[in-house]
Amino acid sequence: MTEDEKPLGERMKLPWRQMPIGGTAFQPGSSTEYKTGDWRIIKKPVIDHKRCIMCLLCWIFCPDVSITRSPDQVEIDYYHCKGCGICSAECPVRCISMVEE
Ligand code: SF4
Ligand code: SF4
Repeated sequence: MTEDEKPLGERMKLPWRQMPIGGTAFQPGSSTEYKTGDWRIIKKPVIDHKRCIMCLLCWIFCPDVSITRSPDQVEIDYYHCKGCGICSAECPVRCISMVEE
């Protein structure tokens, strides 16, 4: 067993009572390191940019901050998008389609 494969407690040489509590974020912004797009199954959102009116509702409603914006376009960050479909449901002109992966 390599050092990386050992349980966290063994690697840290800590008895379990001294291990950090699970689910605790020790640094702000660390969630960007986790590519939660791996969790997406079945469908992903795809934007039809020709029909987009840049209302930014998708950007506001995305619970995973997976829609990025520039002055003239919104894009999906597939590394973090979990495929929930909220952006597609909220788009007033229905220009975000949920398509098979
Ligand atoms: S499908 Fe969900 S997670 Fe992905 S961009 Fe749309 S609102 Fe965000
Ligand atoms: S909600 Fe639809 S129209 Fe509005 S910015 Fe997003 S993709 Fe464009």
